[in-house]
Amino acid sequence: MKNALTIDLEDYYHVSAFNDFLAQDKWSSQQSRVAKSTNLLLDSLEEAGCKATFFTLGWVAEHQPQVVRDVARRGHEIACHSLRHRTVYEMSPKEFRDDTRRAKELLEDLSGSPVCGYRAPSFSITDKSLWALTILVELGFSYDSSIFPVLHANYGMPNASRVPFRVTTPAGSILEFPMTTLEFAGRRSPFCGGAYFRLLPYWYTRWGIRFLNTHENWPVCVYLHPWELDPDQPRMAGSFSSRFRHYLGLKGTSVKFRKLISDFEFCPLGILAKSIPIRSSQTTDPIPLHLELPAVTN
Ligand SMILES: [Zn+2]
Repeated sequence: MKNALTIDLEDYYHVSAFNDFLAQDKWSSQQSRVAKSTNLLLDSLEEAGCKATFFTLGWVAEHQPQVVRDVARRGHEIACHSLRHRTVYEMSPKEFRDDTRRAKELLEDLSGSPVCGYRAPSFSITDKSLWALTILVELGFSYDSSIFPVLHANYGMPNASRVPFRVTTPAGSILEFPMTTLEFAGRRSPFCGGAYFRLLPYWYTRWGIRFLNTHENWPVCVYLHPWELDPDQPRMAGSFSSRFRHYLGLKGTSVKFRKLISDFEFCPLGILAKSIPIRSSQTTDPIPLHLELPAVTN
């Protein structure tokens, strides 16, 4: 079974957890590592014959356009990870629309292809910001992968479907491919992306993906950032928990990642989104798979 491999293309200082310690107007003065770490990632993907979706930050497209061109030239899907890495629930609908439209235009100009997929910074489409899905449809997106169906302090919709579902909005419908979780005895746990991938042993991730592919008959969505493969990145000031989540396990991630892409078949999420069957309503998931949203008021 083909699974989705997704990369949130941003630099180490864009991470939301460090926002309080580094204002956006200081980003340009930081040592940039995104070109180098993305190139290493692209080389590993090429070696494994693997293509991925790169949810790319508009700020990276503005400041390092060559990185985006390189990713597109090497055959990967370019998708959108907002313009300035602001969380969706902190923006008004108008701010979100302007931010996303600008990022999409930049990415389409650089890649020469339509941008169809969106991932919110810090998985910030939650029940407080579902209106964003309507705006994504208006702007021409066909899929979103921003909902984390777990309970978490900063994000999450613990009652959302764990499997892809279609959301009907006043502007049309959009496919939601939620972040992958395992569920046992009513408890959901992430395991195949970001800090979860770095901190959990590789055998557990491999077992989890095989379990979902064979027992639930469903593809998973792995997500990583280029900075997670860069153990030598400069250390940022931040809270203990932010630093713990960001820096732990960086050294071993590159080896784990290479194992992952040789053990499983991956493809860009945009390709999977076009072919995936939407599970019908016999599911026992607690919210309807076909969610209907009201019109957006700015
Ligand atoms: Zn991000």
